[in-house]
Amino acid sequence: MAIKVTDLRRSVRQVRVVVMVSPNPYDVAVSQVRNVGEALGLNEGMIGLLTRPKRELTVHFPVRMDDGSLEMFTGYRVQHNNARGPCKGGIRYHPQVSLDEVRALSMWMTWKCATVGIPFGGAKGGVICSPKTMSRNELERMTRRFATEIETIIGPYEDIPAPDMYTDSQTMAWIMDTYSHKVGRVSPAVVTGKPILLGGSEGREEATSRGLTYCVREAMRARKMDPAGSTAAVQGFGNVGGNAARLLRDELGLKVVAVSDSSGGIHDPSGLDIHKVDAHKKETGSVKGFPGATDISNQELLEVDCTVLVPAALEGVITASNADRVRAEIVAEGANGPTLPEADRILFERGKMLIPDILANAGGVTASYFEWVQDLQYYFWSITEVNQRLNDIMTAAFNRVHARSAEKKVDMRTGAYLLAVHEVAAAIELRGIYP
Ligand code: NAD
Repeated sequence: MAIKVTDLRRSVRQVRVVVMVSPNPYDVAVSQVRNVGEALGLNEGMIGLLTRPKRELTVHFPVRMDDGSLEMFTGYRVQHNNARGPCKGGIRYHPQVSLDEVRALSMWMTWKCATVGIPFGGAKGGVICSPKTMSRNELERMTRRFATEIETIIGPYEDIPAPDMYTDSQTMAWIMDTYSHKVGRVSPAVVTGKPILLGGSEGREEATSRGLTYCVREAMRARKMDPAGSTAAVQGFGNVGGNAARLLRDELGLKVVAVSDSSGGIHDPSGLDIHKVDAHKKETGSVKGFPGATDISNQELLEVDCTVLVPAALEGVITASNADRVRAEIVAEGANGPTLPEADRILFERGKMLIPDILANAGGVTASYFEWVQDLQYYFWSITEVNQRLNDIMTAAFNRVHARSAEKKVDMRTGAYLLAVHEVAAAIELRGIYP
């Protein structure tokens, strides 16, 4: 992947690096819909409707920093489609957030919800910032002001945010509190991924990785592979990657041979003790330098010898230039959009099974749906109920997508898109074009 630093702006507190990733994630998202449009018999009008977000809000807002100075931030909330239900999608804090990235992510949310059959449309949000260099108080003030700026378009029946990269349950608690003040009542269902104390769901924190683990289990079943003796490599050691590494090892019995974070990765063919790696990261700030393992780059991690590869950090990391060096038999996309279209083709031709993001990481939004249902009813489920329902939904979705891909002799992403885009287009047709 060619990454070109096109703009480097420094301010007292923020180093904002605008990186141009080629191709642009929104172009990728559009091409994925076009790819199935013809097979589904969609006309140009419908493809235009499906590939353009319904609503895009850009906000520029000031935040008082700890030293008393004022800093301007830019944030986005994009609602792609609400034909099947209220919009749903995370909020990301990252220096490289862009409107096109948020557009693509909002579109992927629409297909994701349709793939697993939950009654939501797609949305996404983001703020251009460097969360690692900001204090907790600065993050709280930025979050509350951003929540206020987008308050006109979010709501329990309109658009329900959730955590994404560098946002967490605390961020959601601040948004829930800010929104509740605005509307004059406690409104837990306005966000998901909240702390359990405030109406969060049991199991939400690890649901994305748990859903991914169920998908990997089904994929191995479909390919008649034995998890014992199989290995995994995981890129990204945050919510998705860290939990995926742990669950693939503890629940599926895979040996995890490599993991990484933004500073780089580690490799140990004899297997990493994920709990110790986690403690090492908490102590030193990175997985790198873990005793007994070899330090590797994030690029090298994608190419290590393993059965299952889980890209769980950024988009656009598996490209035409490295797809032929991916050795894993199964690629389970923990991140959104980690594989570019040309790489999809190469992996498929090489007989690899790629479980696409809109299926592999849909466990998070599925548990978010559970949380929303529980919040609206003020009636909460046990962890056993949550995990059982998650297992049911993910297993059924995997097998539906796998069957459609096999029937049409296409890769799993195309199979998932055939199902999801059809469902959304059918919902639009049923509702009709107003007026
Ligand atoms: P997170 O902030 O918890 O973790 C991100 C991880 O990626 C961190 O370990 C960070 O060090 C690492 N990282 C950042 N830049 C990197 C780089 N250049 N190379 C390698 N690693 C890098 O975020 P998360 O919630 O785990 O989200 C990760 C991905 O999963 C994102 O694409 C997100 O959209 C997707 N996702 C998240 C959820 C969820 O429930 N959190 C659900 C679906 C999809």
